[in-house]
Amino acid sequence: MIRGSVVVQRRRCGKANCQCADGEALHEATVLSYSQSGRNRTVMLAAAQVASVREAVARYRAAQAKLEEAGNAGLAALLAAQAASGRGR
Ligand SMILES: [Zn+2]
Repeated sequence: MIRGSVVVQRRRCGKANCQCADGEALHEATVLSYSQSGRNRTVMLAAAQVASVREAVARYRAAQAKLEEAGNAGLAALLAAQAASGRGR
């Protein structure tokens, strides 16, 4: 699994005589965007990588959602037990 998100970036390459210079025919690159140490970073993806990276990102999201759900269930169980025993609050 992979943490991050797959995004398509459109940008100019900076060459004055390139077709992208008019701001319309921009270059497209598919990248993995992720944060590390509080910074947003991107890594370029080759066309052949895009599908498998998307799938790996989806697996990470699903695992993260499951973890969150399990953690919330545990929290709810603790709070219910505390309320039932008259403690808490
Ligand atoms: Zn260009």
